Amino acid sequence: KLYNLVQDLKGNIRVYCRVRPFLPGEPTALSTVEHIDEGTITIRVPSKYGKEGHKPFMFNKVFGSSATQEEVFSDMQPLVRSVLDGYNVCIFAYGQTGSGKTFTMTGPKELTEESLGVNYRALADLFLLSNQRKDTTSYQISVQMLEIYNEQIRNNSQNGINVPEASLMPVSSTDDVIQLMDLGQMNRAVSSTAMNDRSSRSHSCVTVHVQGRDLTSGTIIHGSMHLVDLAGSERVDKSEVTGDRLKEAQHINKSLSALGDVISSLSQKTSHVPYRNSKLTQLLQDSLGGSAKTLMFVHVSPEADTLGEAISTLKFAERVG
Ligand code: ADP
Ligand code: MG
Repeated sequence: KLYNLVQDLKGNIRVYCRVRPFLPGEPTALSTVEHIDEGTITIRVPSKYGKEGHKPFMFNKVFGSSATQEEVFSDMQPLVRSVLDGYNVCIFAYGQTGSGKTFTMTGPKELTEESLGVNYRALADLFLLSNQRKDTTSYQISVQMLEIYNEQIRNNSQNGINVPEASLMPVSSTDDVIQLMDLGQMNRAVSSTAMNDRSSRSHSCVTVHVQGRDLTSGTIIHGSMHLVDLAGSERVDKSEVTGDRLKEAQHINKSLSALGDVISSLSQKTSHVPYRNSKLTQLLQDSLGGSAKTLMFVHVSPEADTLGEAISTLKFAERVG
């Protein structure tokens, strides 16, 4: 309880961590992760990273490899539900490529009911709750999907063509949403064959806008939720890439560190928040800070050879939390 209190005083920024399980074929002899409890993850640090030992990192919550999609969602459910009360919410999935960001937000390639990710569950829950409130409040929910690639914003429109203008789609059921999201996946798949898995090098954002009208007083409230599957955070060796790949890496680096700077200055309550330094933070400016609520969900792979990336991910999280 004291912990919750501290969290409230710090503002509305929460940081979660999730470690994905080993995948078939991955060597399981050694894991990056030594130990997990409620809010602490302890990383095994071999001597090549300095002094050999263990390093603990603290979070509001840590999910181990056996955590289900349902468990993960139920922890963030109150945050999601606050959108219907007029809050602005941002949920970010951060981590290197292959660490499980898309699994958390969308799910695996072959979706089953159990494996549905946060995006679907969040929308389904908003429909459920808005329906429960229908005698007192009339809600309109719409969804927009967009992608930021190389500091440019692109929308996924219905006919699969990137359009410059915002494309808000009214939705009223999870079926609508599933259709819309599959469409987005399809667009991404098209570009990924063309551009060598671009999805891991772009930020993909599902934005939910909610308008609620109180049926007695006529008062109108607005809430929003941004569900962001960030570009892979892995550092790219500048001596190994050139041209477009280098440009991409620089754009990703710039926007992820801009995001880190914004969240960390919000959590430290500094007076100047540097929103202007990237497209992502500009886009989300109204939903970061003030009464808005932010969840940074960092992802870590258990593979021992990704330890360096795991540590830099956890350090990023430490800085924003
Ligand atoms: P990222 O989006 O960070 O690049 P993915 O979400 O694509 O990573 O995950 C990489 C692989 O690991 C995928 O095959 C995915 O299905 C699998 N995976 C990730 N997290 C989990 C998990 N919690 N449980 C089972 N499989 C997972
Ligand atoms: Mg992904």
